[in-house]
Amino acid sequence: MTERNLVLLGPPGAGKGTQAERLVDDFGLPYYSTGNILRDAVENGTELGRKAKEFMDAGELVPDDLITNVIAERLDSGDADDGFLLDGFPRTIGQAEMLEGALGERNRKVTAALLIEAPDEEVVRRLSGRRQCVKNGHVYHVEFDPPKNEGVCDQDGSRLEQRDDDKPETVQKRLAVYHEQTEPLILWYGERGLLRRFDGTRTPEEVNSHIRATLATLALEDEI
Ligand SMILES: [Zn+2]
Repeated sequence: MTERNLVLLGPPGAGKGTQAERLVDDFGLPYYSTGNILRDAVENGTELGRKAKEFMDAGELVPDDLITNVIAERLDSGDADDGFLLDGFPRTIGQAEMLEGALGERNRKVTAALLIEAPDEEVVRRLSGRRQCVKNGHVYHVEFDPPKNEGVCDQDGSRLEQRDDDKPETVQKRLAVYHEQTEPLILWYGERGLLRRFDGTRTPEEVNSHIRATLATLALEDEI
């Protein structure tokens, strides 16, 4: 069987989270985001988890090689034998090289880097319009999915507010970081013939079916 070793790339607000959920459902892949694999490692009290916790408790970034080792531990667990979906790592070329090394030691490789694209102005429009209810975190959008009464949650009547992450100036900063760090990575995967681009301004259904079609083609190429 063809492995689906997938890396998800794209700016915040392009719909990566939605597509990740669907890919996990469609193919039964384990989903590894930097946050969730580190959290699991800490909860499981593995040696790597304890090391990671020291950095997190000190408010420091967990070093790339430690994250790579945590991913490697998951690769060896048997859960990811048919593939995996990585989101949020790698984010830089250095991280991609470490991942390539860890996979190579296991005679594996990334099969595709899926880039979900959206122009900056669309990202700002999507994220800065989001509102979340203070009670249960129900999510609305002032333009695309407004509540019946402005500023009030339809489901529990609590107040809606904008998360700090979604404030326009914060979104601009997140985009600047994305462009600086991740665009070289996009080129890097492109040079290796692994990059597949998807138009994140299409509906989630369209993006999902495009991704599925692309993965089906890759699987066929692999068998030939
Ligand atoms: Zn609510």
